Amino acid sequence: MNQITRCDCHLHTDNSFDSETPAERLVERARELGIETIAITDHCDILEWSDANIARSNAQAAELNDRYGDITVLRGIELGEPLQAPEQTAIALGLCEYDFVLCSLHNIRNEEDFYYLHPNEEQAYDLIGRYFEELLETVRWNEFDSLAHFTYPLRYITDRDGVTVDMSRFQPIMREILSLLAANGKALEINTSGLRSPGGFLLPTVEYVSLFRELGGRYITLGSDAHVAEHVAVGMREGIAAARQAGFDCATVFVNRQPVEIPFD
Ligand SMILES: [Zn+2]
Ligand SMILES: [Zn+2]
Repeated sequence: MNQITRCDCHLHTDNSFDSETPAERLVERARELGIETIAITDHCDILEWSDANIARSNAQAAELNDRYGDITVLRGIELGEPLQAPEQTAIALGLCEYDFVLCSLHNIRNEEDFYYLHPNEEQAYDLIGRYFEELLETVRWNEFDSLAHFTYPLRYITDRDGVTVDMSRFQPIMREILSLLAANGKALEINTSGLRSPGGFLLPTVEYVSLFRELGGRYITLGSDAHVAEHVAVGMREGIAAARQAGFDCATVFVNRQPVEIPFD
């Protein structure tokens, strides 16, 4: 089958606060598209997470994986802001067996999610600087498999609110983050959700996927970040094209926290 992609490793179900989609619907949609491997990665934002939801998400992924012979459903988690409550992070990571830990940063310390912020240009530089600093600390911490939606603040600051940001100012710390991620043998996610907004872009753009590669990065994961079934695999052609352009010839999925490479063709 000439499917859009063989894998999609960033999907939310009704076990996430911002999705009403039963896990089964996502799996059905992925099977319709001929996708071989998906990861369910429900939100575990560490300052407000639900152990019941994470346990349910994990059990549902395992059950759906057992139910179908034509698709692998991996037990993932989107672990947000892990350094902001280390004890909670340890509890969350010990709660279940995970195939895949996707790490994200939606809000920096003492700030709301970037979704809620509307900075002016000066504030934008301060916020983005602090975002990269906390992200660097997170990469040093290293207890995850893939780093989600690198450059996440730009989705709101530049794309939604139209604030101009000269990213060259952040080049040194961005290099440091991507270089350490590569040295640690971790993956960088190419998140295609940004493409669903007008004028939107991949998170990160091909420029940073290429930089990761140049700095020795070996693994990329692909994620649509779908919260509804219709968004499964949306944007994957562009995501795969960016990965290829950067020099990657496969995506990676994580099974029992170990990388498994899936060639693009
Ligand atoms: Zn996220
Ligand atoms: Zn997500």
